[in-house]
Amino acid sequence: MNALEREIRSLIENAGPIPVSRYMALALGHPRHGYYMTRDPFGASGDFVTAPEVSQMFGELIGIWCAEVWHAMGEPARVHLVELGPGRGTLMNDLLRAAKVVPAFRASLEVHLVETSPVLAEAQRRALNEASVPVRWHNSTATLPDGALIVVANEFIDALPIDQLVRAEAGWHERKVGLKDGQLVFALDPTPLPRIEEGLPAQLRGAPTGSLLESRDLTPVREVAQRIATHGGAALFIDYGHVRSGFGDTLQAVREHKVTDPLRDPGEADLTAHVDFEQLAVAALREGLHTLGPVPQGAFLRALGIDARAERLKRNQDEATASTIDAALARLAAPSPGMGELFKVLALVQPALTAPPGFDS
Ligand code: SAH
Repeated sequence: MNALEREIRSLIENAGPIPVSRYMALALGHPRHGYYMTRDPFGASGDFVTAPEVSQMFGELIGIWCAEVWHAMGEPARVHLVELGPGRGTLMNDLLRAAKVVPAFRASLEVHLVETSPVLAEAQRRALNEASVPVRWHNSTATLPDGALIVVANEFIDALPIDQLVRAEAGWHERKVGLKDGQLVFALDPTPLPRIEEGLPAQLRGAPTGSLLESRDLTPVREVAQRIATHGGAALFIDYGHVRSGFGDTLQAVREHKVTDPLRDPGEADLTAHVDFEQLAVAALREGLHTLGPVPQGAFLRALGIDARAERLKRNQDEATASTIDAALARLAAPSPGMGELFKVLALVQPALTAPPGFDS
């Protein structure tokens, strides 16, 4: 049993079963033993691979998108470019390189990275060492400065903790993490929660017994949405998940590219849950923003010109390099087993903004 499991068990022994969100927050973000706090999990030798790590094309095209947003905003002299959960800093590095084709845009940028992991913040510092733009780090969106902003976030929301509710005879019960026969187990809280049903979107009311509902604290999304509503700008969220709110347990643990039990060896596997894009869109609409999408990642990248970009990169390259580029293109933009269909892109924009590219289909 690892140190974090020991700590979680004693928490439960002392105060009873804990919410799934608390378990997830500890497994990912415990200051000493949390998954992201202790390691760089990306790449072939790590636990999983994200789109910016597949190919430079991903970050470059997002850079082009940001430049288009900046243009639609009226080309402000100063803009905060914010990334939530920047991982190794690869996306930002590729974005800033691509931004060189629009020098006035690049010159307007002040970069803000919102990152809780000291290990990954260090990797970001190394990646952006020679970027020649001002870069600042934040532990949360609460400390972002005022001013117009463009926000990007790839596979960030899926790492934010979720809570789970299960429908039983008497109503909705919280699913918690408790202890049984010396093991961490999921168990329903015996007391039903009041007033859950009336807060649900119409398609989720009157659910059959056994239905499982997930919800997520979207504070970082609300905070950037409020800033965009006040100061102008846009945000781009890319993640895997469903377009409309629905039922089902999507809590998933991945270790060394394989799915494992989420309650085993906490802090040693990546824990995520699908993003409910309807919940995300509703949070933004409540702050007075407009939404674009969600569209499949493949359609988004094609609309931004990923095919032409791949052709360009292949020019004058040997066969092996060309086929690596083709494989990356398929992985990013083609449907299953690629990321093109499962991953979705949602933009939140200030109301007056001319629609930026990528959302026509
Ligand atoms: N965007 C990167 C990394 C995705 S992994 C990529 O596409 O490769 C999730 C990232 O979010 C990591 O950098 C992790 O440390 C960070 N993170 C997780 N929870 C966070 C939180 N609550 N606040 C800020 N960053 C967080």
